[in-house]
Amino acid sequence: MRKVSFPYMGTSYIPIKRLLTALGNEVILPPKPNTETITLGCKFAPEFACYPFKIVLGTYVQVLEAGADTLVSTGGVGPCRAGLYTTLQEKILKSLGYKFEMITLEPPGRHFADLMCSIKKLINTRLSFRDYINIGRFVWKELTLLDKAERLSHKIRPLEAKKGETTEVYRKCVAMVAKAESYKELAEIEREMERLYDSIEKKDFDPVKIGIVGEIYVLMEPSANMEIEETLGNLGVYVERSMFLSGYTVSNAVMDLFHIAGERDIKKLAYPYFKEMCGGHGRESVGNAVHFARRGFDGLIQLSPFTCIPEIVAKSILPKVCEERGMAFLSLTLDEQTGREGVRTRLEAFVDMLFAKRKKMRLSSTKSNFVKEMS
Ligand code: SF4
Repeated sequence: MRKVSFPYMGTSYIPIKRLLTALGNEVILPPKPNTETITLGCKFAPEFACYPFKIVLGTYVQVLEAGADTLVSTGGVGPCRAGLYTTLQEKILKSLGYKFEMITLEPPGRHFADLMCSIKKLINTRLSFRDYINIGRFVWKELTLLDKAERLSHKIRPLEAKKGETTEVYRKCVAMVAKAESYKELAEIEREMERLYDSIEKKDFDPVKIGIVGEIYVLMEPSANMEIEETLGNLGVYVERSMFLSGYTVSNAVMDLFHIAGERDIKKLAYPYFKEMCGGHGRESVGNAVHFARRGFDGLIQLSPFTCIPEIVAKSILPKVCEERGMAFLSLTLDEQTGREGVRTRLEAFVDMLFAKRKKMRLSSTKSNFVKEMS
């Protein structure tokens, strides 16, 4: 039996584990990135490799030490380094003496035959067509439920009366989804999830709204972004992230397979500022910034790994987008040197500034209404 492992990113390990196990593999669960992961990644990666590369490389060392003999990761196309990730990581790890097989799942639109070959290697049990449908249905439901639980936590956290209650409920929801054994159970969990979030005591408060854009790994893995969404929520901010795993899967698997331009509207929104493809999610960062501004968001935060080319390109455009549309902008560059307290201080200052700006605007509109009434 293959002992398979994969990179850790947010709660994606739950549906991925389920899928690989159902396909007849033993799963070696990757640990949540910790100090050891980062130390190992930095030790063996080239110094200027981007931060996600180092975290993923460190994770691979940990899972190979734990007995994995197969590593699965996604590939990529376009001008950023993601397409070369697995090749370079495989070379580094093999030069360290590890014996394993690297399976890269390439985007289906351009590498359909390669992808099918890779998937075949991961099917290690006999399954009927009906089994595939049931596995797919169950895993997709898990994935969408995990995204839903996270979205609800972003909505409720700034309103909670008792600090930390939303995070507690969120963790409970994730644990329930991870334990579910049938589709029917997942449907019940969805109802229970809504009930749990509803039962959180909320205060009468109008949070400021911040959109978050940036590179996929640092967007989706809280340990890579210093738990920015939780920190902002606790500061009274409604946070909306531009990317979730279910949306990413649809645009990178389904849309890509049928050559439908994924996130077409977002790319269209970026068009006046940014016409070229620069790899990663650079263009989406610009398009999503326009989208957030149109929906009246107060601020935008860009999360960018140090040396990430697509986000460096986006960073040169985002201040103009935000200035033209009256939205405050903060860019955070993340790597192994980034300090938690440094990030927290910058976030606190940014949020204070947004609340002050809103107060000032409300005051000036009250004043102008008063002047109108008097004249
Ligand atoms: S998008 Fe940025 S961080 Fe991700 S692989 Fe490309 S260059 Fe590296």
